[in-house]
Amino acid sequence: MDIVLEIADTFLLDKLYANLFPASLSNNLPSNLKPYFNNFNSTSPFSSENTLLASKLSASGTWSTIFETIEGVGNIPERGNDIYGLSPTHFFPETCYTYASMLPRSNMIRQAISLSIIMCVFGWLLYFVTASVSYYLVFDKSIFNHPRYLKNQMSLEIKQASSAIPIMVLLTLPWFLLELRGYSKLYLNVDETTGGWKAVAFQYVAFILFTDCGIYFIHRILHYPPIYKKLHKPHHKWIVCTPFASHAFHPVDGYMQSLPYHWYPFIFPLHKISYLFLFTFVNFWTVMIHDGEYLSNDPVVNGAACHTVHHLYFNYNYGQFTTLWDRLGGSYRKPDQELFDRKAKVDKNVWNEQAKKMDVIRNEVEGKNDDRIYGTEETLKRRVAKKL
Ligand SMILES: [Zn+2]
Ligand SMILES: [Zn+2]
Repeated sequence: MDIVLEIADTFLLDKLYANLFPASLSNNLPSNLKPYFNNFNSTSPFSSENTLLASKLSASGTWSTIFETIEGVGNIPERGNDIYGLSPTHFFPETCYTYASMLPRSNMIRQAISLSIIMCVFGWLLYFVTASVSYYLVFDKSIFNHPRYLKNQMSLEIKQASSAIPIMVLLTLPWFLLELRGYSKLYLNVDETTGGWKAVAFQYVAFILFTDCGIYFIHRILHYPPIYKKLHKPHHKWIVCTPFASHAFHPVDGYMQSLPYHWYPFIFPLHKISYLFLFTFVNFWTVMIHDGEYLSNDPVVNGAACHTVHHLYFNYNYGQFTTLWDRLGGSYRKPDQELFDRKAKVDKNVWNEQAKKMDVIRNEVEGKNDDRIYGTEETLKRRVAKKL
């Protein structure tokens, strides 16, 4: 995330913080508050004296104390030198605004505010753009007439996802901050010491395999009845999905399923650009497995057809990228062949058959009381009727 912050700080936020909280303001602060708003005025923090001062000041914040304590317990890898705001910039030279605020780049309060806003806007953008593209170009809208489609389901999905994304970002913030403070194994230089490009290529495979395994077990825990009822049921409200169901979770559910993505760079080395790419890719993949376009009938890939089976029949196909852990865990269910046949996929008899089978399992999982209101997209229906 230091790359993201470096871009945002260089082109926008340094100037904004300098105007809102100029460095001169810190002179008026009581002396006991000053260490929390350290600034280096116009001097570079990279002289040895200032680097020492910087680490002392950064360690005086409450969050830093917590991090130091965690470090003492030994669960976090040894802290590297790559601390955002204290180590040299990666891509862009410093400007006249870089040290012009009483909240310097290394200040954790500033980092938390900046990242919360950036990640929330990025999360919404990624969700709306990817799901909209999928909706207009890929998604088969005949599903609106499926007997288990909810009344105005798409707006319910959008409401759930857009309100969950900011809370998921806040829950994720400690991982991003730990990473900015240099506790992760993220790196930028590709050379012999870091294993070269071979290591980078290997990381893509390792990241997918590691997170696939992690999500499988977390997803199974989320289906444990007391947890399911409280956290995971909001995502299973959607029996048949639109692309907008992809991020429509209870925020704690969405956060829990994203944990392996944040664990990985604290356990294994990972290139910083790959991390950003993979972070975007996993969000993209989440939309793809909800768009109902059954491209893959591959026995290994957990595609949209497999995830459709999970939403229809609850107790199968918990995986995210592959079917490996479902096969090992005895929860794999091969998607019905009808799902790959353009006509049969939207056949009313097939749908009724699915609804019958699904009702039996839903009764077992959730009990006899079903609080869903089934229907169709009312506005779209009215629009179609007007055109006719
Ligand atoms: Zn589930
Ligand atoms: Zn889902």
